[in-house]
Amino acid sequence: MYDVEKVRADFPILSREVNGKPLVYLDNGASAQKPQVVIDAVNRAYSEEYANVHRGLHFLSNLATEKYEAVRGKIATFLGAASEDAIILNSGTTEGINMVAYGWAMPRMEAGDEIILSIMEHHANIVPWHFLRERMGVKLVWVDVDANGDLDVEKVLGAITPKTKLIAVTHLSNVLGTPVDVAAICAGAHEKGVPVLVDGSQGAVHMPVNVTEIGCDFYAITGHKLYGPSASGAIYVHPDRMAEMRPFLGGGDMIRDVHRDEITYNDGPMKFEAGTPGIVQTIGLGVALDYLMGLGMGNVAAHERDLRDYARTKLDGLNWLNVQGQSADKAAIFSFTLEGAAHAHDISTVLDKRGVAVRAGHHCAQPLMEHLGVTATCRASFGLYNTKSEIDVLVDALELCHELFA
Ligand code: PLP
Repeated sequence: MYDVEKVRADFPILSREVNGKPLVYLDNGASAQKPQVVIDAVNRAYSEEYANVHRGLHFLSNLATEKYEAVRGKIATFLGAASEDAIILNSGTTEGINMVAYGWAMPRMEAGDEIILSIMEHHANIVPWHFLRERMGVKLVWVDVDANGDLDVEKVLGAITPKTKLIAVTHLSNVLGTPVDVAAICAGAHEKGVPVLVDGSQGAVHMPVNVTEIGCDFYAITGHKLYGPSASGAIYVHPDRMAEMRPFLGGGDMIRDVHRDEITYNDGPMKFEAGTPGIVQTIGLGVALDYLMGLGMGNVAAHERDLRDYARTKLDGLNWLNVQGQSADKAAIFSFTLEGAAHAHDISTVLDKRGVAVRAGHHCAQPLMEHLGVTATCRASFGLYNTKSEIDVLVDALELCHELFA
């Protein structure tokens, strides 16, 4: 039985007040709060276990290396990867997707080649591909979502042409909460020889993920949304794609030998991890994943589905609120505007006065905003520690906004 009050007690920040009101943290889509075990692990890593990794032969360096390297295996388990050798550690999804763009896509693509994107991608899964468009003449092919915010797999597969070199798609929209059937996209795309990159920044937070079952070529995650430290993360890369990929960043650690006129690289995944990494952040991420696996991602997902259903009923009752994205299977992520002139920033300011933290703006998804015909929305995004009574606080605060701005 999922005991949300027990879970909340693990997160010290949740007991603080904001503007004289109990904090209602509904900005998990941007970044999630950290459980005490993660905070303790980070403190311990700095106060008792810190040294650089992979280099020294002394006690602390060996200890830090052991702790750091153990996380690769935890991520492989969390994502259902067949081997930890498929996991490249990094600072998060943005770095992971850029690495694929520079290291895998750029050497393999030429002018006129096509990359398929859904309209609901985060800028982290758009801008690296724009680099290829600007620099190499690669074409970006966009697939819209329907009126509910769902992405039709057949439309994605129907956009494949002989020029398609990659499909890059989110597992779950950070704005609409829409999940995408990435397994079906991978199956259909692979029949036509097209690899698939999945942006798992949101997907891995809200549902159990198994990259082997999905069958994707790349799956990027970001630690700070997974209740771990910022600047931690990883990307799963299928062994066949890893063999094709060139290193993106050069420096220490990713080499085997360096001479005046020649160089040999480390084996993957370390071939793609140059320089001193986020040692402590990664160790913290490992503890966050232990925490999530301890709760069980199925239980987390069930709790969040409960929150979604409750929030959906409550928000549907506010007939002056426009919620974007009505997918039946959506995650507990609600982006909305209020009828009338109130800007999303004004709404979030009023909510903040009530202790309710939401995000306002374009959510790094401007093509989606254009598609929806809005410039900004407020977004309440729920996490594993949120409660129904917090949804009631949100609704009361929204009613106040309606009174103020109607
Ligand atoms: N993709 C999605 C869907 C996101 O929600 C985010 C973060 O908001 C990112 C990518 C970028 O993640 P990061 O900034 O941690 O690299």
